[in-house]
Order: sequence, then structure tokens, then C-alpha cells
Amino acid sequence: MTHAVYRPAPGHSVTVPPPADPISSPPIDTERVAELIGQLLSALGEDPDRAGLAGTPNRVASWYAEFLSPDASAVATCFTESHLGEQMVVVGGMSVWSLCEHHMLPMHLEILAGYVPAGEVVGLSKFGRIAQRYAGRLQVQERFTRQVADEISGVIGGKDVAVAVRGTHLCMSMRGVRMEDARTTTLHTGGRFRSDPVLSQQFLTLATGQWRAA
Ligand SMILES: [Zn+2]
Repeated sequence: MTHAVYRPAPGHSVTVPPPADPISSPPIDTERVAELIGQLLSALGEDPDRAGLAGTPNRVASWYAEFLSPDASAVATCFTESHLGEQMVVVGGMSVWSLCEHHMLPMHLEILAGYVPAGEVVGLSKFGRIAQRYAGRLQVQERFTRQVADEISGVIGGKDVAVAVRGTHLCMSMRGVRMEDARTTTLHTGGRFRSDPVLSQQFLTLATGQWRAA
């Protein structure tokens, strides 16, 4: 089995435009966030008025506002698409940044999605948008994996979907040198990926192969 096929070829990345159908979420009160960041700095024993921190509350607030906006042009680099006979389409090489809801620290999520086409093959940029949409919010990796899988199911109109996500969580990486390389892998499978061991094994082999080679 040639894992290399599933790695993004150099120059094969594209930047996915913001989703055309942004989901609605309550507006972010940027001014209030800035005020609270100022208070947080004080509570952390800092002097929010010192030169280096003068613009920090506003910078942090606008960063949050941008990152947590569903139509933000957050990173969504893609991908490689491959067909395994007529059985399975695999989309790999996607990665996004999200925020862990337990620590409000970044997590980097690499995504591999597989599906069995019910007829039409879904366009690649669609996958990037789906990943991006669920990344730009406070998240946990398990929920992200399920949400991406559910949305792909909706798009293809079938349940034969598998999504594997490998996450690097700064809340873990920052705790000590030993944890620096820690990765968390989550998997969500549906339909034939759950009932057909051969298909599910093929998908898992691809995922591990791609990530071992990365
Ligand atoms: Zn965390």
C-alpha cells in the first residue's frame, strides 16, 4: 500500500475561501473582552499600563473576535484526494487550528476523511470549509471529529463516512518537555466503515501511514 500517495504533494495546497454559508452566532463584545483582559493582567500581577502591555487587551480582544467568527479566514489548508478503486474516497492533508474549551489554549488538528460515494464525489474545498467551520470556536477534539463526520454525512447523503483527527494540544504540550510530542487521535466512523472491517482497516492504515510519514 502506498501511503505516500495520500500525502499532499508540494504545491498542492490551496487556501480555502471563507464559507459561503456562515453559521450565526452571538456577536462578540470586543470592547468588553478587552476590558476583561486588562483585568486578567492585573489579577495575574501584571501592570496593564506598562509600555509592553499597553495595546495587549485590544490585540487579544480583536484576535478572539476574528478567530471565533465563523466566516473568519482561519487556516484551512488542504489536501490530497485519492480514490481506492470505486470503494472509498479519502481526503487528507487538512489541518486547522482550534481552541480547547477546557483551557482556552490552541490545538492543532490534522484531519483525514474518508467516504464511500453514493454517486457524486464531493468537491475538495467543501471539506476544508467544513473543518474550518467547526474549528473556529471553543472545542474538544472528540466533538469536532463527530461534527465533521456528521456534516460530511449530510453532504454526501449517506452514512458511509470515517473521520480521523490527530490533535496536538498546547495545554498538554506546554506542561513539560515530556509531553511535547503528545498527540491525541480520535476516530468517528459510520455506516460501512463500522460494519465492514476491511474498509475500516484500509482507512485506519491510511491514517496511520500518513501521520507516521508526516
Ligand atoms: Zn485543554
